[in-house]
Amino acid sequence: MAQIVVLGAGLGGTIMAYELKDRLGEAHSVAVVSRGKEYSFVPSNPWVAVGWRDRGEVTVDLEPVFRKRNITLHPEGARRVHPAERRIELNDGQSVAYDYLVIATGPELAFDEIEGFGPARNSQSVCFIDHALAAKPAFDALVRNPGPVVVGAVQGASCFGPAYEFAFILEKALRDARVRDRVPMTFVTSEPYIGHLGLDGVGDTKGLLESEMREHHIKWICNARVDKVEADKVVVSEIAEDGAVRQVHEIASVYTMMIPAFRGVEAVRGIEGLTNPRGFILADKYQRNPAFPEIFSVGVCVAIPPVGKTPVPVGVPKTGFMIESMVTATAQNIARLLEGKAPNAIPTWNAVCLADFGDSGVAFVAQPQIPPRNVNWSSSGKWVHTAKVAFEKYFLHKMKSGTSEPYYEKLALQALGIGKLKAVVTTDAELE
Ligand code: FAD
Repeated sequence: MAQIVVLGAGLGGTIMAYELKDRLGEAHSVAVVSRGKEYSFVPSNPWVAVGWRDRGEVTVDLEPVFRKRNITLHPEGARRVHPAERRIELNDGQSVAYDYLVIATGPELAFDEIEGFGPARNSQSVCFIDHALAAKPAFDALVRNPGPVVVGAVQGASCFGPAYEFAFILEKALRDARVRDRVPMTFVTSEPYIGHLGLDGVGDTKGLLESEMREHHIKWICNARVDKVEADKVVVSEIAEDGAVRQVHEIASVYTMMIPAFRGVEAVRGIEGLTNPRGFILADKYQRNPAFPEIFSVGVCVAIPPVGKTPVPVGVPKTGFMIESMVTATAQNIARLLEGKAPNAIPTWNAVCLADFGDSGVAFVAQPQIPPRNVNWSSSGKWVHTAKVAFEKYFLHKMKSGTSEPYYEKLALQALGIGKLKAVVTTDAELE
């Protein structure tokens, strides 16, 4: 009996454990090392930050679900992975040994790279549930004392969808509170143009998002490098094509929320052969680490190069659907290795995204991620908000019930008329 350990119980790690269990049954053991016993649905955090959701509505107690599915939970968290010894050192000093390890540790948030940045200093965050909950009193204070606002994503960020979502959700919440007329809003982004999204745009995301910004009276600055965040302003250098500073902006802001750059978590960072210089896990086309072939990785922790050169560095987003494809491929490949066969499942890494704007939204599908693409589609409308709420319900249901079946995504793809899109994985044989 092999011991398969998943490190991290976020979106990728939890469905990884379920899918491994579905595939391997009781023939092998599956364990998860997490920080605490709670799963939290990260995409709902922008709603939490304006009080549209509370903690109980977007979190799941994993203990009873794991017990039912016979998945061992180690909630102590990992201090360090020791790949040469095939073990994880936990924060309480104990160790968990593995035959196969799937790393799904998500991002560490690099707020410390910019002066005054982050929830411990002068800005809000929606990246973690605790940050989003802490941002709610700041939103209430903004409603009591309206003033200028900056929302966006800094240099090196990769997760642009939530920055746009939060700008429009905040805008809607301020309208509902009848104070929007006293809140000038500026969207500040490292992207070279609005709607680039780290993907060089998808369909007409540039046109759609610029138009939404104009309609909602949100000004924007692109190619932005944030130099400093203070309690009442954000200092931004706008960078030209040649790397020179074109203009320095001092933007008044009494409420700032910007998505930070990500890096790998401390438990894995700096392990020769396992990670790149920013601590992201190196993986081949099978999600397998070349130096330690018993280690796979899924989700935001995976190293993916940027789609192209931009005046200010931007990363590639790793979205839920793409993560699901990494998970399914990894489960198939580990199952094959356990049968003495070589891995053959390759995730498609298609990007399918619903960006909610509170009462409408923008949706896009990119296959493959890097242009030119076979599917390059975007659309907007009130239906996106409805679909996003449905996705939230579905994901939380999936986490609570311990199932790995991605049927809603398949339904959504069919509804969008792209049901023939290769949804999750392909194999070497199919590619030949
Ligand atoms: P996470 O869900 O962050 O999970 C990582 C887990 O690893 C966490 O539970 C963490 O505690 C744990 N961990 C870390 N270090 C350790 C350690 N040392 N020991 C034990 N456990 C550890 N994508 C979409 O497709 N649609 C969306 O609408 C969407 N919205 C987003 C909104 C926001 C605000 C953000 C930040 C991202 C969003 N994404 C969205 C992108 C992506 O889907 C999410 O970030 C998703 O949660 C990533 O899953 P993950 O498993 O890689 O990381």
